[in-house]
Amino acid sequence: MLAGGSKLYADHVKVYPQRIWGKFRSIKWAILAMLLLIYYLVPWIRWDRGPDAPDQAVLIDMAGRRAYFFWIEIWPQEVYYLAGLLILGAFGLFFATSLLGRVWCGFTCPQTVWTDLFMQVERWVEGDRNARIKLDGEPVSLGKSVRKLTKHGIWLLIALATGGAWAMYFDDAPTLLRNFFTGQAGELQYVFVGLFTATTYILAGWAREQVCIYMCPWPRFQAAMFDEHTMLVTYEEWRGEPRGPLKRAAAEDKPQGDCIDCGLCVRVCPTGVDIRQGQQLACIGCGLCVDACNSVMAKINRPLELITYDALSAQADRAAGRPPKRRFIRPRTVVYFVMILAVGIGMLATLSQRARLDVSLLADRAPLFVRLKDGGIQNGYTLKILNMLREPGTFSLEVEGLPGIETRLIGADSSRIAVAPDDVGTFRLLLLVPKGAAPSGSSPITVRVTNLANGEVSIHDATFNAPQQ
Ligand code: SF4
Ligand code: SF4
Repeated sequence: MLAGGSKLYADHVKVYPQRIWGKFRSIKWAILAMLLLIYYLVPWIRWDRGPDAPDQAVLIDMAGRRAYFFWIEIWPQEVYYLAGLLILGAFGLFFATSLLGRVWCGFTCPQTVWTDLFMQVERWVEGDRNARIKLDGEPVSLGKSVRKLTKHGIWLLIALATGGAWAMYFDDAPTLLRNFFTGQAGELQYVFVGLFTATTYILAGWAREQVCIYMCPWPRFQAAMFDEHTMLVTYEEWRGEPRGPLKRAAAEDKPQGDCIDCGLCVRVCPTGVDIRQGQQLACIGCGLCVDACNSVMAKINRPLELITYDALSAQADRAAGRPPKRRFIRPRTVVYFVMILAVGIGMLATLSQRARLDVSLLADRAPLFVRLKDGGIQNGYTLKILNMLREPGTFSLEVEGLPGIETRLIGADSSRIAVAPDDVGTFRLLLLVPKGAAPSGSSPITVRVTNLANGEVSIHDATFNAPQQ
């Protein structure tokens, strides 16, 4: 409470969205069904990668430090692909927003999708808007308790399926499901499933539009991507005002706009917005008010699209009696599109040519070198050969940079080094340089490892240390 009695936060007014049918509602149902199917079913898709490899198509294997996406296998040192995906997603979002407005918020954001699903369950169990308002106003009774418990029970089941599906992206889905219900899953798995179940239940069941209005940062800066050509849900004020009931228009001989002030656009809104008051942060651009108003306009025989999904420029054209013009190709949409293309092509190019062999060489720190009886100098190293392929690898090792440099690999033949599939081979490497061949101090050398099966080469720069003279 602030000085003078004013409040820091507005009171929460519960929103009771009314059911509506129409073009946007159908699109929302189709997208919701598709996204939920993808989310719940993808962990169950199998992908044969041969023996000793997980057969789950999409898997983030934290224990094995590997991410699998169908035929693509990402090792920890390739995590920059994840950064590339995030950059691609961000530019995709900027592009879609500058072109089509809040389509992410209204149709595909997980908060919108699960809230929509939870609201539909609420309608099935408690009825449409008026029935729900009435039920909430009633004193506690057996009937009311049964309805409320049923609704929350179904919500919790959906939330559990959602949390469980999320965990399945990090573990083998059939194994996790079996272990989860037989009490054999790990503690962490129960904790994470519980956490995501609670999050889904609270955000989609209770918080709903509060997440969009108060918690999500995206609505706060997406307006920077809008211009007069961006497609937005707006009320055509020039056509709707002055608003008033149909009867009054008939009784009073005053000019009246097409809006009959029926309030249906507000009652169907999932965030409780009155779009006739102009663009608002709370409007997620779902288009349900367009469906609502179109149904009213159709009933009273007025042109549709009093609330419309269109560019502000097209609306201005209509208001001025000009044919509406829309511009989809604009500097900002072109820039975003070019960025998407550049990042996408760059990622595809690096993916298609990425190395499946990696070499690391660590020089001994103490001693830096050993002087041999014959006056030669020896340096010791730890050589690691990472074979990222699913078949056994045979590699050759060559070292260049100093005259007469000799390679000794302890326990292996440097011309045929065997490394198991999907494994790291660790070897002790000794490099010997004859007397007088190594300059004093450190000298650059090059270590070359070649996969004898496919010719892939990994070159590693290193140094050879000799005593100061
Ligand atoms: S005002 Fe219309 S478009 Fe905006 S959230 Fe409400 S129903 Fe959806
Ligand atoms: S649904 Fe259409 S006619 Fe009814 S109040 Fe909203 S804008 Fe006016």
